[in-house]
Amino acid sequence: MKYYSTRDTSLRYDAAEAIQMGLSRDGGLLTPMEIPQIDERFLREMMTLSYQERTARVMGFYLTDYTQEELLGFAENAYGPDKYDTAAVAPVRTVDAKTHSLELWHGPTSAFKDMALQMLPQLLSAALRKTGEEKTACILVATSGDTGKGALEGFADVPQTKIMVFYPKDGVSAIQELQMVTQDGANVGVCSVVGNFDDAQSGVKRIFSDLKIREILAERGYFLSSANSINWGRILPQVVYYISAYCDLVRDGRLEMGAKVNFCVPTGNFGDILAAYYAKRMGLPVNMLICASNSNNVLTDFLRTGVYDRNRPFHTTMSPSMDILISSNMERLIFDLSGGNDAEVRGYMKSLSEEGRYEVSDAIKAALAAEYWGGCCGEEDCAATMAAYWKNHHYLIDPHTAVAVNVMEQYRAATGDETVTVFVSTASPYKFGDSVLEAIGEQPVENSLERLEQMHAVTGVAVPRRLAALRGKERRFHQVCEKLEMEETVLEFLK
Ligand SMILES: *Cc1c(COP(=O)(O)O)cnc(C)c1O
Repeated sequence: MKYYSTRDTSLRYDAAEAIQMGLSRDGGLLTPMEIPQIDERFLREMMTLSYQERTARVMGFYLTDYTQEELLGFAENAYGPDKYDTAAVAPVRTVDAKTHSLELWHGPTSAFKDMALQMLPQLLSAALRKTGEEKTACILVATSGDTGKGALEGFADVPQTKIMVFYPKDGVSAIQELQMVTQDGANVGVCSVVGNFDDAQSGVKRIFSDLKIREILAERGYFLSSANSINWGRILPQVVYYISAYCDLVRDGRLEMGAKVNFCVPTGNFGDILAAYYAKRMGLPVNMLICASNSNNVLTDFLRTGVYDRNRPFHTTMSPSMDILISSNMERLIFDLSGGNDAEVRGYMKSLSEEGRYEVSDAIKAALAAEYWGGCCGEEDCAATMAAYWKNHHYLIDPHTAVAVNVMEQYRAATGDETVTVFVSTASPYKFGDSVLEAIGEQPVENSLERLEQMHAVTGVAVPRRLAALRGKERRFHQVCEKLEMEETVLEFLK
């Protein structure tokens, strides 16, 4: 299986090269040239396998330059009992006959980013061996909260790698910040940026396309790579859990083999819901992909009008991992819906970077409408949804998950569609304790660590063990930089 760029289809790469590069040099996203197909027989086989085995099977279709043995080993490291607090890894919890929750936060940082970021460092490390690369990979990450910690945790002390994480200074939750600034590892760096997530992400993109910096770093024995969801090694492990969830529903008698499901995904950078799209394109029986946004609803408007327009106010919400105005992975979807037309994609992306907006062709508009339904949820509705789920189902959900649930309900009301729907639960409620406690009518205590205990006392839900262990960890990182100082910060880190 070969990979090419969404902005230039003339060059071909192996999976290992694509994972090592992260982003294509032309600024495009590296994308598989074919979509492998699965059928009912494959799904039946998958039903009897562990999550780790399912992972090796699905990833093997796309990573043809890795062996099954390698992939299974990576999956066992990534999703083993020392990392995940449940053997199911990505369990499906039933809410009612037509509604299920795919819980993706049972890993070491209590957010769904672990599903990919426990895997990516291993894929990358193997890629360096396969390509004979001798330089050290420096991972630059811009994070709206969860990616940063997930990447730090995945890359800490992985040989031949260093990692630097930038997060928006006032744009992440107290627990998220604490998780990052206390990170262990000799190869890690953390810095907050005065600005929002898009500022941090633009800074990282700027550094990536800065030839001068690349040259300086090459002389020092480094090359830049990415752990953001622009890296194919981030998207692929996420395809697995959609297929896995389907298999679980059938195995447990909650769905008939072949029946369609909807997936409703709380969306930011469009990585998670793109993985669902790939699962559908592979042949998984999926009806509608429901794209849930918070008040940063650029995707809702785009899916409804075909106009992507980032020229709008940026809102800081209680679901910070979705506070994003430029959803990078939309580029892969548009590329696919255009039939692999790199010139068309280049046009849209040029217009996005110059004017902050683009309008897709009528053909793409029609394809979008067939695959996706977009909706958004404001802060009050998000809180009301958390409260209602706690009251009616005794199910404590975090604000990101609540956005998905709220939009799922809007979708049902608007369309009358009764297809079984799986919403994706992307973070433990403990990561956003202040918002969750307020929503269920409790006054959150000031200290974020004491809040963990408060929440446990009020709800009886177990505190994730790694969050509990934050108590007593010392802060290692204090650095703050202006957005135009990010280059300097990186050069200093890689001295
Ligand atoms: C990153 C994240 C999202 C958004 O996922 P994307 O792949 O960026 O669309 C949603 N919820 C949580 C908790 C996240 O960390």
